[in-house]
This record gives sequence, structure tokens and C-alpha cells, in this order.
Amino acid sequence: MHDGDFFVHKLEHRSIKPTSSRLLILREMYRGDEAISMPELERILPTVDKSTISRTLALFLLHKLVHAIDDGSGVLKYNVCDDDCDCSVDFEHTHFYCENCNRTFCLKHIAVPVVSLPDGFSLKSINYVLKGLCPECAEKLSYKK
Ligand SMILES: [Zn+2]
Ligand SMILES: [Zn+2]
Repeated sequence: MHDGDFFVHKLEHRSIKPTSSRLLILREMYRGDEAISMPELERILPTVDKSTISRTLALFLLHKLVHAIDDGSGVLKYNVCDDDCDCSVDFEHTHFYCENCNRTFCLKHIAVPVVSLPDGFSLKSINYVLKGLCPECAEKLSYKK
């Protein structure tokens, strides 16, 4: 478990003033590979105002502390960026959406495939989402057979 200083530094690294609600939200968002949606954050932080959560997420995105993932489920999910990530195409990584538990994971060590675009197209971002079963669900479902 990380102490409070760890999260203060993460905010300061992105030039975000650490406030108690920002720290609280960041702490909940920092869950390894697993991404989290705004409705989930609202559910686990019932004491935090919904508008505070949405404003804080927007701020985190603006400062590239977190990145958004469109996994096709209709709800954006978010995960904390590595400290050296600038959210450019160079830092794009593979995401994995589990069709059974609807969780989305950042596979930060798997770079996205590079495609060469026809003349005139300029690449700004890549949304590369693989779908299937996460290890937990794959195991659970294989027991049922
Ligand atoms: Zn799953
Ligand atoms: Zn990611």
C-alpha cells in the first residue's frame, strides 16, 4: 500500500495542487492495471459530490495524470498514467475488455501495432481494445464446464 506522500507527489509531478478530495479520488483510481469508470467512482465515494468527481477527472485528464479508455461499453474508463507518460501516440498501449465482468485493463507493456497511413492523414490517438475473458473469469468459467 502506498502512503499519502506517494499520491501528493503524483499530483505535484503533474502540477496539480493536492487537495483532500483530489487525493481521495486519485487513491481510488490507483488500482494497478484495472481501469475505473465515473459511475464506479461515484459508487465507492458516496461522500464526495458528483460534480467534484467529474471536475477532478477533467482536471486529471487535462494534466495527463490519467488517460481515458473507450472500451465500447458505452462508459469511458480511466486509469492513472505512468509518471513519464505524456499521452502521446508513443505511449499508447493495449487495453483489454473482459466481456464477462465488464472490467477493462491497461496492458502497459504491450505496445499497439503501428499502421502506416495514406498521405494526408495525421495520427493523433489510437484506441486499441482487445476483448475476451480476463484471467479470473476464464478460470471461473472453465470450472463450470
Ligand atoms: Zn473478467
Ligand atoms: Zn491504459
